[in-house]
Amino acid sequence: MAKKQFKAESKKLLDMMINSIYTHKEIFLRELISNASDAIDKLYYKSLTDGETGVNRDDFKVFIETDRDNGILKISDNGIGMTREELENNLGTIAKSGSLDFKSEIENKDEIDIIGQFGVGFYSAFMVSDKVTVVSRAYGSDETYKWESTGADGYSISQVDNMTEMPNGTVITLQLKEDTDDEKYRDYLNQYTIKNLVRKYSDYVRYPITMMMEKSRPKEDADGEFETYSELETLNSMVPLWKKNKSEITDEEYNQFYKEKYFDFVDPLKVMHSSVEGVVSYTSLMFIPGNAPYNYYTRDYEKGLQLYSSGVLIMEKCADLLPDCFSFVKGLVDSQDLSLNISRETLQHDRQLKAIAKRLEKKIKSELESMLKNDREKYLEFYKNFGLQLKYGVYDNYGQNKELLQDLIMFHSSTEDALVTLAEYVERMKEDQKYIYYASGETIAKIDKLPQTELLKDKGYEILYLTDDVDEFALNIIMSYKDKEFKSVAADDLEIEESSEEKAKAEQQAEEAKPMLDAMKEALGDKVSDVKLSQRLKSHPVCITARGGLSIEMEKVINAIPNDDKVKAERVLEINADHPVMEALSKKYESNPEEIGEYAELLYNQALLIEGLTIDDPVEFSNAICRLMTK
Ligand code: ADP
Repeated sequence: MAKKQFKAESKKLLDMMINSIYTHKEIFLRELISNASDAIDKLYYKSLTDGETGVNRDDFKVFIETDRDNGILKISDNGIGMTREELENNLGTIAKSGSLDFKSEIENKDEIDIIGQFGVGFYSAFMVSDKVTVVSRAYGSDETYKWESTGADGYSISQVDNMTEMPNGTVITLQLKEDTDDEKYRDYLNQYTIKNLVRKYSDYVRYPITMMMEKSRPKEDADGEFETYSELETLNSMVPLWKKNKSEITDEEYNQFYKEKYFDFVDPLKVMHSSVEGVVSYTSLMFIPGNAPYNYYTRDYEKGLQLYSSGVLIMEKCADLLPDCFSFVKGLVDSQDLSLNISRETLQHDRQLKAIAKRLEKKIKSELESMLKNDREKYLEFYKNFGLQLKYGVYDNYGQNKELLQDLIMFHSSTEDALVTLAEYVERMKEDQKYIYYASGETIAKIDKLPQTELLKDKGYEILYLTDDVDEFALNIIMSYKDKEFKSVAADDLEIEESSEEKAKAEQQAEEAKPMLDAMKEALGDKVSDVKLSQRLKSHPVCITARGGLSIEMEKVINAIPNDDKVKAERVLEINADHPVMEALSKKYESNPEEIGEYAELLYNQALLIEGLTIDDPVEFSNAICRLMTK
């Protein structure tokens, strides 16, 4: 029998399959079952449009058979079948319409990419088989043909006689490769392996996928003895949960589905199920987990949604469907507009995928917003797990997503003693209050004690307490919320309205203290850029504030990153003019001006300690205190 050669681009793909090092070879089964299901679809469609009478939807099925002794796996369907020409055209040539596009795709992408993302159809059978035989009879024909190939050296087609009893449809016979050290091909003959693969990839194929399962049962009247028997089993559940009407699905069903599919032990916090009709139609079923996965905030965590095309899984984790800020969302998207052979229309496909991703992003945001509005307790639970991710999201990509996220983030409020949103803060702002104030520190308790917060508290202003490293960076990137800018309580100038009396008093005090403050500044050298009287301190003697954009907290965070780029905030030492220490200092400066330097050092170091910073020379600091005590 004359061998025919595959068309050039088919051969390329075929070679790739035969020599595949792809690790998920198991997808060949999904591909063959999808083809079978498509073939049944075609016949069913034909029966509807042509008014064929001999076709009964209930008879449709895909049938899997194994012959373990001979290493053979068979996949049959009673779909539309193929004529001789169709065998020739469909299996000898891959990609009819878009062959050129597809070719360039192969050249540009690596193997894993193509197989993993798109599936490659029929030829994937060659990843696991030495020989593939396709016997097919087209619907309405009484001739049966056989297509055979061992791969690279071409294929042959011949008519099969004595097949009068063969109904329409196709039987694909795979002669599986011998096992190797790395690859156990014969495992595809194990009925449980097959069942699991069908469940994993083809559970929602609309027609039953059946197989004779060998089972055992206790023998009647024979105590303790078992007998084996075979039973035809349908392996797939056929109707995907997400295709059912929302009103028909119970919470329990959703929860069960989530836990099984996404390997969680606890129920999801939120279920989002919706169908969208439009330029791209799709159904999405998404979940917000009840707990953050153990590896969530590590590099090991992989985001993504499952991608289905009409019930057939084409990608386990499609990362492009989720923005990083919502990477905690689990779930799936099913679209009939994405076909299994998507690779042929990559461009269009990408656009569709992007359109879906955009809609999903909006959906997740609005669901979170409504949770925040209507079920705050639940939102707080969510925020406890994933709030940090939202704040990173604000900061990431130079604030590209800040609009999306700024209404979802929360911070601890000094006046409410609870997490509040920026909107709530602005709503409560005092009439004369210009800024949204925040204070950074290690813990809420520590921040609450910061001297820098005194004046603001005194004025009844609310302060946001920032405890996560990313917080201040996130606010800096938001810049302003509802036209209100953010200001750190440790900023050099709090810009608080003062009465003219207060102003005059402050100016006078500053004037009087100037020579002493200058002397202190000189003594401290480049440690500070200024020493001044404080407008913000009420009962505390000193504090440190920062001038310019870089705060002391940000300095800490940046310098904790292990590289050589260290930064330094511009420090200002502030002294409380109304504190008794001020009087003591003035006296000291009058009597022994040369000692003022030592006092400046002491105050500066104290201010650093309050701020949670380390001091350069703790030994000298301690000695200085002792000298003072023994004076
Ligand atoms: P596709 O992505 O188009 O399914 P394949 O390489 O998997 O690409 O298959 C090529 C073509 O072969 C299909 O489009 C279909 O026309 C035909 N084909 C494959 N399997 C079957 C089958 N079981 N029954 C009928 N036709 C089939």
